[in-house]
Parts: sequence; C-alpha cells; structure tokens
Amino acid sequence: MWYRNVYHCPCGNSWADEWFSMCDDECSECRRDVSPTEEECVLLRADRVYEVTLPDPATPGTTKLVLADDDDIIRRYFPDARIRQTDLPIDHPDIAVDLSGKS
Ligand SMILES: [Zn+2]
Repeated sequence: MWYRNVYHCPCGNSWADEWFSMCDDECSECRRDVSPTEEECVLLRADRVYEVTLPDPATPGTTKLVLADDDDIIRRYFPDARIRQTDLPIDHPDIAVDLSGKS
C-alpha cells in the first residue's frame, strides 16, 4: 500500500510525502518525529500479492502469483480460481499476472 501522508509539525512546518505506510517522518526544520494527519492521508495504491489456483482441467492445481488491488478484480479475470492473499512483496520475481491499477 502506498500513501500520500500529510504532516503538520508543532513548529509550523507542513509537508507531504509518499510512503508504503502511514509512518512518522522527521521535520526538516526542527528534527522532531511527526505523525501524519490521518484524515489528510490518501491511499494511492493498495496492491497485494495473491496466490491464485486455477481449476484448469489440463493442468490441475496450477498456481500463479497475481498482483492486484483486491480479490474482486482477480475474481473477474479468473472466476473459478481459488484465491489466497499472501504477505509476499509486490515486486516478487515470481509474479505472473499484474492486475494492479485495473478496476
Ligand atoms: Zn518542526
């Protein structure tokens, strides 16, 4: 998941940055650790890696790694597949199908 985080430091400095999570950032003015303002943070990308097992009669149990925003999208492309969400990184080298950004 990619977020655009917005920070407001008590010293008056404000900035925005893009991160993998809603993490703290260091103020460039006073070096204080500042938490992002949650209601101003925007989720940019929510890609996850799914293990998709296709019910292909020719090659039973064929499993592919698929990158997608959520499992609804995978279900549209592989209606009969068994889908399992994994914790693999989104740049895993074995990802066979990239459905990110599709909706
Ligand atoms: Zn500051």
